[in-house]
Amino acid sequence: MSQELKTWPTPYGPITQRMIFANLLKDIVRPGKCVYCGSCAATCPTNAVQMLEDAPRILGVCIKCGYCYYACPVTTEEDFKGFDKDIEESIFGLPRSEKFGVYRKIYLVKRVEDPDAFPDEAIAKKILAYGLRKGYWDVVAYSGRDSPVTDGLLNYRVSGWRGRPSIACKPGDMESAKLKLITPGPTILGVRGAVEEYKGAYFHGVEPIRVAVLGPPHHIRSIWRGRFSWAGHTKLLKTIVFMISYFARKFYLPSKLNVILMRNGLSLESIEDIEYKRNSILFKAGDKVVEYRFEDLEEAIHPGISSIKDLTGEYSDLSIGLLDDVEGVVLIARSEEAVSLLDELLGEGVLESLEFDERDLVNKLNKLYEGG
Ligand code: SF4
Ligand code: SF4
Repeated sequence: MSQELKTWPTPYGPITQRMIFANLLKDIVRPGKCVYCGSCAATCPTNAVQMLEDAPRILGVCIKCGYCYYACPVTTEEDFKGFDKDIEESIFGLPRSEKFGVYRKIYLVKRVEDPDAFPDEAIAKKILAYGLRKGYWDVVAYSGRDSPVTDGLLNYRVSGWRGRPSIACKPGDMESAKLKLITPGPTILGVRGAVEEYKGAYFHGVEPIRVAVLGPPHHIRSIWRGRFSWAGHTKLLKTIVFMISYFARKFYLPSKLNVILMRNGLSLESIEDIEYKRNSILFKAGDKVVEYRFEDLEEAIHPGISSIKDLTGEYSDLSIGLLDDVEGVVLIARSEEAVSLLDELLGEGVLESLEFDERDLVNKLNKLYEGG
């Protein structure tokens, strides 16, 4: 006797069988498509999913709810089909006009010195600290090299130059945050830490908190993927009021990067500073400075993050990045909130605007997507 399959409606059409972590492992993690966003671990109601060094694994009891699968940004088709026109318009209220996505306004600002951040991250830190100071959001969730938000969110000891989920509750916390990420950290676990710990500690469940998120493009996709899934993840993802993405840059798998570094007597634990050059990265540890050309590190490139071609964070309110031959830091304001925030920051002198030719920058951004 054949059994009739039940269906669930979703924005991508009805699904006939709810997918669970076992499917995520088979479809995404094992084939190397995982972008290490931490959404699966953050949404799992039983804490069964844990982020290990390079990927999530199931270490607890799965009750087959399916939350993890539908919060994973990679379980849509690779180019985010089903998330394109309609959803893009519903997010930004505008259709996409350029290859790099919807945008309302482009800015070019002067770099700021920050020993704990690459130039794009340094600008993001300024903006996020300003938002905390003005009360535009209560907490910032990000991945950095500060203490993890809670030890319980990671069940291995994370150390050295590895990303970990972090939160900043005060402007000073944000200003002193240690970024310079070259390995991804599970950003969405930071959001969970913000919601669970910050709300529990300060708000006693009375007010929904407002979270700002800083993450790479792929992790911003996780937020929208979760919001538009049948589960919605209301408690976790609807608290987010502002998203900043830095432009995609090279990310490495910690385990593989460590193997390469160890050939030169370095390790992710011993690194004290990192500097990007045009075609290479400098790793500094004590008196030792080792320069690796990008091709030397190719075998450690994060396969999941490299496979999604979202180079500027197309679903964030604000994208921040560097372009070859452009002196300042480029900001793409996609939402109205981002435009008004940046105009305020420039008006108050927190950021300093530079002269630029908008068409020239738009062409350069489009060229990124053509591989130029
Ligand atoms: S309990 Fe739900 S969210 Fe957790 S692993 Fe199982 S299917 Fe995924
Ligand atoms: S991409 Fe994110 S949600 Fe998907 S398996 Fe990896 S960590 Fe989990």
